[in-house]
Amino acid sequence: MKVTEEIFYFPGMNFDCNTFLIKDNQADEMTLIDCGTGFFFDRLIKRISQEELNPQKITRVILTHVHFDHSGGLINFVREYSPKVLVFHLEADSIEKGGNGLLLARDFGLEFTPTKVHQRLKEGETIKAGSLNLEILNTPGHTAGSICLYDRDSKVLFSGDTVFTYGSFGRVDFPTGDSKQMVQSLIELSKLDVQYLLCGHLDIATKNANDQIKLSVKNARLWI
Ligand SMILES: [Zn+2]
Repeated sequence: MKVTEEIFYFPGMNFDCNTFLIKDNQADEMTLIDCGTGFFFDRLIKRISQEELNPQKITRVILTHVHFDHSGGLINFVREYSPKVLVFHLEADSIEKGGNGLLLARDFGLEFTPTKVHQRLKEGETIKAGSLNLEILNTPGHTAGSICLYDRDSKVLFSGDTVFTYGSFGRVDFPTGDSKQMVQSLIELSKLDVQYLLCGHLDIATKNANDQIKLSVKNARLWI
């Protein structure tokens, strides 16, 4: 589904996270945000093609965090299209070394296939993708190295598993999760002006996203 002229949304199947593609018309390349488990890789590629996008143009993959439902499919993209892999520095070793740890691969009954990280992202860094200038925001809580990507001009927030629509937010009971940090991260996100809340699970929002994030803050304060 087309969200904007540049952003495409592919809802996750079953346990898969939502996946997003940003199309850079000038450079004729695309940036993928999160990969799903890989269980439905062929289906995802088919859906990408149905949007008249060429998956061969995926030159870069950014992970919002390394949980298997976001990272398991990375190896498929790497093998097929050789994109650059960008991961927040706190979680990059998990991608390069594998194991269970932060990845939770065995919770999905699988082993993660390690692969090279080309760029270790840092807090405050900006990644240009099409007309978007995506600011890397470290939003600990779901995991210590979870990130959101925010474009101030178009009010787009790729929020991973930190904040979801309907006043929901990510679990805090996985390794490096922290309830206090989650509340603080949600408060920080509620200060941003967001129109498009492009979250890692559940439906996305294309309007009134500020209200949804504020509801998540309220709920998080009540529940955790
Ligand atoms: Zn997660």
